[in-house]
Amino acid sequence: MDKNVILETVAREMHTGVLVLNTSGHVLHANPFFLKSFPARGAVEGRPVSDILKNTSLLESVEGAMHRRISRPEDIEICEGAGFFKVHLVPLREKRDFSLLLFLQDITEEKRVETIKKDFVANVSHELRTPLASIKGYAETLLDGGMDDKDTLKEFLKVIDRHATRMSRLIDDLLTLSRLESHQMTIVSAPVDMKDIIQATTKGFEKQARDKGITISSRIPDGLQRASGDKDRLEQVLVNLLDNAIKYTQSGGHVSVAASSGNGTVRVDVTDTGIGIPAGDIARIFERFYRVDKARSRELGGTGLGLAIVKHIIQGHNGRLYVESEPGKGSTFGFSLKACK
Ligand code: ADP
Repeated sequence: MDKNVILETVAREMHTGVLVLNTSGHVLHANPFFLKSFPARGAVEGRPVSDILKNTSLLESVEGAMHRRISRPEDIEICEGAGFFKVHLVPLREKRDFSLLLFLQDITEEKRVETIKKDFVANVSHELRTPLASIKGYAETLLDGGMDDKDTLKEFLKVIDRHATRMSRLIDDLLTLSRLESHQMTIVSAPVDMKDIIQATTKGFEKQARDKGITISSRIPDGLQRASGDKDRLEQVLVNLLDNAIKYTQSGGHVSVAASSGNGTVRVDVTDTGIGIPAGDIARIFERFYRVDKARSRELGGTGLGLAIVKHIIQGHNGRLYVESEPGKGSTFGFSLKACK
């Protein structure tokens, strides 16, 4: 096989941009990936590099490298439009000739993941620091003499306990999310009776609802088809949705769970007569740590991760999620799953 043919094919098919410049800074070769990332009008061979590269920082680096006749490879990072690129400049010398090879790698996705990770770590640190600062503050006050008064002692210990509970809930939710994302917590589908899950979870929330002056009910038709899903994960979905429905509903309100089946699906809706969600926030509430009202969510013991977990689990079932809400009137969070044949 002809070596040139092989090299041409490699240059054409590779997902790295390649640009080769001669001693005078004119283009000897640009591969398709390079031209896709930095489109130029007409043929590029033989044209000066400043004609091809409109990205100022890249052009400056390339011209600088040519001018300095660099002796070792150099790396730079540039942004072009909404994308990020890593550029590897390699000098090529042959006798008195100097050429510059430029390799271009699209690192937009890497950067995006890096930003998500950084934001996530910053969010988690912030979420943990807030209750921890309170715990420390109350504990210090007690150690500074506050313990002498029995009532203060009890009151402060209750606050410490509340914050510690929130921290442990946050860590539980983080672990659940991380296990779901890393596929350690797999979704094992089997026929599930949603009626059993709804009855068990609503029962578990009866006391919490009663203590808040909220009534809770469920409506399940006879002959509800079984869904195909993972019982434990679906229980978690209902727990998170019911917990929110009760959290964001005032005393005197009502929470209901309704199930239905037909057209090959089983649907469950959790409806509350609570505070509702402004239309502009609905698209974002499934993001990690996104809350309509941060202070209120924290006050109620929320972690900001409940709906992110719900979304993950329902997506893992190839199911669908629905939200309908009206501020001041209430919300309905629903999901549908494939019915068992
Ligand atoms: P949190 O722990 O803050 O409740 P979630 O991920 O469960 O976190 O929910 C995200 C946000 O969505 C909440 O902070 C709240 O603003 C809003 N939300 C969720 N469920 C309801 C609901 N039933 N009624 C009103 N707002 C809700």
